[in-house]
Amino acid sequence: MRKLAAGNWKMNGSTAALAEVSALLAAHPAPGCDMLLCPPATLIAPMASAARGSALLIGGQDCHAKASGAHTGDIAAAMLVDAGASHVILGHSERRADHGETDAQVRAKAEAALAAGLIAVVCVGETEGERDRGVTLEVIGAQLAGSVPDAAAAASVVVAYEPVWAIGTGRTPTLPEIAEVHSFIRARLTERFGEDAAGFRLLYGGSVKPSNAAEIFALPHVDGALVGGASLKAADFGAIVAAL
Ligand code: PGA
Repeated sequence: MRKLAAGNWKMNGSTAALAEVSALLAAHPAPGCDMLLCPPATLIAPMASAARGSALLIGGQDCHAKASGAHTGDIAAAMLVDAGASHVILGHSERRADHGETDAQVRAKAEAALAAGLIAVVCVGETEGERDRGVTLEVIGAQLAGSVPDAAAAASVVVAYEPVWAIGTGRTPTLPEIAEVHSFIRARLTERFGEDAAGFRLLYGGSVKPSNAAEIFALPHVDGALVGGASLKAADFGAIVAAL
């Protein structure tokens, strides 16, 4: 399967940062993996226009479960499509923490995303306390069951495993720990979706950088990365793209 390097700019970047996109595209005109950048909502349309005709895909970082209406500050999935997005990150741990998003809400958003024709990048991951208590797989299993819609298919849903304690900290699980969770996710998807589960892309996220990307990408069932901080600079993200 072709791997996916996905970047999450979070609440970073203004129009000046689009220069990083030009630099990335100049350095990687024909990357060996799929490239996706998810900028803040204000940059989706200009980034999509900068990426037109290139290998770079554009995504949002959230969407509302409803198609339209009185929801001040929110964005509907079809609006992301209209702005040029093909993907949307859903259930990132920062949204689960900052906005109290539950598995049921993430699932409803994912259903809306799929209905609008977006590919949903559904995030799961344990906290440090949960890992210390030895309940990582139970937590991931419950998040998968609760957040991934029944209509999911390999072509429409990507699952990102992002340990909460590894995000933005410079710390990562050991390679066997990453491999254990990715195999578990594949097995759970297989129980639910049968043979199609082999085609779901499973991304690892949490302090991925040029220096650790290659060893993580070599693990079984790691089909790419969801990159936060290191996606903001073309040189760093480009080095991760090159490692895939
Ligand atoms: P990080 O963030 O790469 O800065 O650790 C990852 C993420 O939150 O997707």
